[in-house]
Formats: sequence, structure tokens, C-alpha cells
Amino acid sequence: MMYDKTKKIALEEHFATEEFMEDVKPWFIKEGPEVWERAKATITDISGKRLELMDEAGIEKTILSLSSPTIQCILDPAKAIDSAKRVNEYLADSIRDHKDRFEAFAALPTQSPEAAIEELHRCIEEYGFKGALINGFCQIGDPDVPVYLDDPRYIPFWEEVEKTGYPVYLHPRTTVEPVRKAEFDGQTWMATAAWGWHCQTGTQVLRLIGSGIFDRCPNLQLVIGHMGELLPMFLWRTTNRVSTHKRECKAELPINQYFLRNITITTSANCSTPALMCAMMEMSTDRIMFSTDYPYDSMKQSADWFDNIPFSDLDKAKMGYENAKRLFRL
Ligand code: ZN
Repeated sequence: MMYDKTKKIALEEHFATEEFMEDVKPWFIKEGPEVWERAKATITDISGKRLELMDEAGIEKTILSLSSPTIQCILDPAKAIDSAKRVNEYLADSIRDHKDRFEAFAALPTQSPEAAIEELHRCIEEYGFKGALINGFCQIGDPDVPVYLDDPRYIPFWEEVEKTGYPVYLHPRTTVEPVRKAEFDGQTWMATAAWGWHCQTGTQVLRLIGSGIFDRCPNLQLVIGHMGELLPMFLWRTTNRVSTHKRECKAELPINQYFLRNITITTSANCSTPALMCAMMEMSTDRIMFSTDYPYDSMKQSADWFDNIPFSDLDKAKMGYENAKRLFRL
């Protein structure tokens, strides 16, 4: 099997609408006002410059998702339900004429598990979306209290996700303010993409595993980005520790087994060959997919790195596009 570098599929790729501009502004504005001015056009663009960059990077297809934290940080469930519906409709309309290049993940109002189930089904059935992307925990009413996806209220939600046969992409967001303050005050550089987002998302993945949801739903598929949100490097230690100190962990299998059955990672915004080798050795190339995290990171940089990694054509084809085709039935 030859690796075709023009056929890549990327699936942690974000857009925003005017409604959510204030949510995404902090990530750009810290680079300077002119960066934010340029970024506004970049993040709202779907089929203009984005398509040119996809061509340049050899990305044949992109699965689009609403940026972080957006729906998940809306405190009022009714407003979250309404916003998710509108943004999913907008996305479906925006890609309708470009189905050869774009697919989509639904944004879900996780503030209401029942509404999230309904919206997931609606987006798959009416629009042909390929699952959902959720920006981690949500808050309901109180901004200081995170509601994690391993809460028992989400059991019916995960059962429905399993039935659809499509994965959920679990994406980072900044932790709640009291935790952010306790951990990162005076070191704000660590709070987001340099560290905080990723260990927080890794924690949520382990919470899901520890809740036993993957034992209840053995076919449930979760996707996580950034080369596995720090987890592959630590898998032996976590697995070994739980085998001797199980405490309230409800997982029936050794922890590392879920990374071979229920979890697939992407290379989004983590172009490290040593990190990729670690993930390959823990999870195999069947469980790794290319992605770029555009527009927060560069499609070209990710593509140039990936096209030149010193692995076999078979492994590059799997990670570059074959795994995504299979997982999302593209
Ligand atoms: Zn992202």
C-alpha cells in the first residue's frame, strides 16, 4: 500500500460563528490585537482560505467542529440547547455545497443529557454529521462547578452514542476558575495549551474509564487529540497502579486495554515523532489519526511533519486517512 500524501483526513479542525467570537478571542488576543483581527476572518471562514490551505497541506477532507468552549460554557441549559441547534444548522448549510471536502461533528448541549441525545440523533439523521465533539465538562447554573461526562446522568447519553456507531471527540477547555486559580495563578502560561488543557482532558478520559462506562458500552468510541492528552506516556504506570490499588475504580479491564478497544488519538498540534512512537507502541497505528487543530495551529506544519515521519507507507496510510475512513464510515 502506497501512502498518498494528498489524501489526508483531518478531524480536530475548528470554526466559530459571530455568536461565539468572544469565547475564542482570549486564545488569539494574547498574541496581539493584529493577530486577533486576522484570526476573526480565519476562524469564521469555512470554504475560502481554509480550502486553499487544505490543498496546500494535502488534506482531502476535514471534519469540522465548533471551537472551544462555546456550548459547554453556557450556564443556562435552555440557551445551550438553542445555541447548539442554531450552530449545527449553520454548519450543515455551510458545508452542503462542499461535501467532497467537509464533514461535521455536532455541537451538543451537554447541560441536558436528554437534549444532547436528541440533538446528536437529529444531526446524524438530518445532516449526515459523523458524531459529535464535546469540549469537556459543562457548568449548569454555577460557573465554579464542573459537571463531568462520567456523571451517572450521562449513562443514557453514552448508551445512545454507542448505538449510533459514531465516536465522540473529547476536546479540551480551561478548567473551572477555582481550580485554575489554585493551580496556575502567577503561571498563566501553563493554564491552557502548554499544559493545563491537556492534563485536564486526560483526567476526564480516566474518569470515564474509571466510571465503568466502557464496560457497560464495550463498543463506545472516544477520540482524543494532541497525541493522547499525555496519557500514552503514562499508561504503564496508571495500569500498574490500578491493578494493585483499585479503590473505587469500576473499570473491569486493565486500564491500557481501553486504549486498544475504545480510544483513538489524533496528532493534532503535537508534531513530535518521539511522542508518536510512544503512542504507536502503546496503542498501535490502528488507533492513531492525523489532525492539525487549525486555525490554532498550522495545517502546513502538521502535514510537512506527518508526510516525512520515518514509518512505513502502510502505517502512514492508516494514520493519515484509512483509520478515519473506517471509524467515521467516510
Ligand atoms: Zn482543538
